[in-house]
Amino acid sequence: MIVGIDLGTTNCACAIYRNGAVEMIPNSLGHVLTPSAVSVDEKDNVLTGLAARERQSTHADRTVTAFKRYMGSEHVTKLGKHSFGPEELSALMLRSLKADAEAYLGEPVSEAIITVPAYFNNKQRKATKRAGAIAGLTVERLINEPTAAALAYGIHQRDQQSRFLVFDLGGGTFDVSIIEIFDGVIEVRASAGDNRLGGEDFNEVIIERVRRKFAAELKNDLTANELYQRLREAAERARRALSEAQSTRFSFVWKDQAFETEITADEFEQDSERLVARLREPVLRSMRDSNVPVASLDEIILVGGATRMKLVRKAVTLMFQRFPAANINPDEAVARGAAIQGALKARNADLAEVVLTDVCPYSLGVESGERQASGQTLLGLFTPILERNNVIPASREHVFSTMDDYQTHVKMRIYQGESRWVKDNIFLGELSVPVPRARAGLASIKCRLSYDINGLLEVDVEVAETGVQKNLIIADREGVSDQDMEVRRKALAKLKVHPRETESNKAALARAGRCYENCTGDQREFVARLIGQFEAVLAKQDPRECESARAELTAVLDQIEGQVFL
Ligand code: AMP
Repeated sequence: MIVGIDLGTTNCACAIYRNGAVEMIPNSLGHVLTPSAVSVDEKDNVLTGLAARERQSTHADRTVTAFKRYMGSEHVTKLGKHSFGPEELSALMLRSLKADAEAYLGEPVSEAIITVPAYFNNKQRKATKRAGAIAGLTVERLINEPTAAALAYGIHQRDQQSRFLVFDLGGGTFDVSIIEIFDGVIEVRASAGDNRLGGEDFNEVIIERVRRKFAAELKNDLTANELYQRLREAAERARRALSEAQSTRFSFVWKDQAFETEITADEFEQDSERLVARLREPVLRSMRDSNVPVASLDEIILVGGATRMKLVRKAVTLMFQRFPAANINPDEAVARGAAIQGALKARNADLAEVVLTDVCPYSLGVESGERQASGQTLLGLFTPILERNNVIPASREHVFSTMDDYQTHVKMRIYQGESRWVKDNIFLGELSVPVPRARAGLASIKCRLSYDINGLLEVDVEVAETGVQKNLIIADREGVSDQDMEVRRKALAKLKVHPRETESNKAALARAGRCYENCTGDQREFVARLIGQFEAVLAKQDPRECESARAELTAVLDQIEGQVFL
């Protein structure tokens, strides 16, 4: 069975297509969203998901979240005495999702479709695939998150040409993509985004208002990290409440003093104006890049938890002059679509076959120079040949001419990126061809770039006057041997991971620890007593007793701080 996995920045989700429908797979806590968080406890046990995320404020140096941002880089995270790369952290998440799926389905799960952002470059895609392999999963295919969301909304079942705009606002990133189906082929026509805009920024807006309101009382502590963490948690609650209600209470405790204020949906909307304005730019860019007019969009679909905010829905409705489709849970759409892709791949009889294609998310081109009016030559310019958002496989050519009198060779230096200057783009490789000695501009060189679905870039250069040809293949340099993968898999397998059955207890205990820190006075003592009692029950190791004690503890915590959110 092939499961679909949304390996998100804030949360992960896993789904399967069976008996003609998609089912979300719950984790060991019964939740369909698993926070993308890893923590190492004092006994050197690795925790993932909610149990890890609950420790974020109390054990910041042993907990990591949002590591997807580092995918494909050499970034190292130190947690306790262990060091992890982003691939290992993602592998830990994938491994726990795999275990959850196996427990739910009652059979081994070894194949998965994993989703990645449309803008992920090849290096990031390869890293994601390796994370899957380290977790013991054969990654049947990586698919773009917006393509998955469009599948969840049934784009593959439309007969004629259809175009969906996917508006994805997550915890920290915003992505807009235009997906088209034509003749059974699904294509990302364009994608644009802002990787510094998401639900977290809207939390900041609330935090700012509260800081202004209590500036006098909080005086010297305004910049304290601990206060910030407390405000952030309260802001998250308030923001979620405002997705349902017209106003909400914002309360927090700081240095034994309780603070409380009211925030209305209108105030929140006013404060968020600047952020809402930033939602427009990527939308306009994707429309421009794809040449798709608004009127020919068949659906606007909302993805990502932060699209639950009323002000975002309102902004989208105003922008497109119509209501977006939001009948699928915005946090589940991507995983659901990945599950559908899994079924398509397995040729599930219920689903007609469709072909998915990708776009090249960045421009590829060569270094060039420009003769200026002054006679001087401006060097280091970037001339794109294959522009971003071309559907791949793609192949384009461009003709250059020599710059200097009697030069004997021309060097083609290949870069990837969007800057006008090569120094700001990524160098991929170079090749040199001999040219006939002649005055500047008299020899011409044809350069063709071809990019295929596996990330192989082929450079073909031909000198028109002599017919001399040269070819260069730029493959991914990140290939890792099977042997190396095996070593990494074993290293990860050695880590002590909490057994699934004790994860709920760990999560409850971590939450109680956080709640203790957020309370003061009598309430704090009360929570301390609860923790003591719960630890005493855990020590007896009677599963039934543990379960009922956990339910009691959770109920009391819900009363104190409202229901837990993912
Ligand atoms: P994602 O990255 O798609 O998992 O989205 C996570 C973001 O969705 C976080 O910033 C959450 O605060 C936000 N989110 C989830 N549920 C809600 C809600 N009911 N109202 C507002 N924002 C939400």
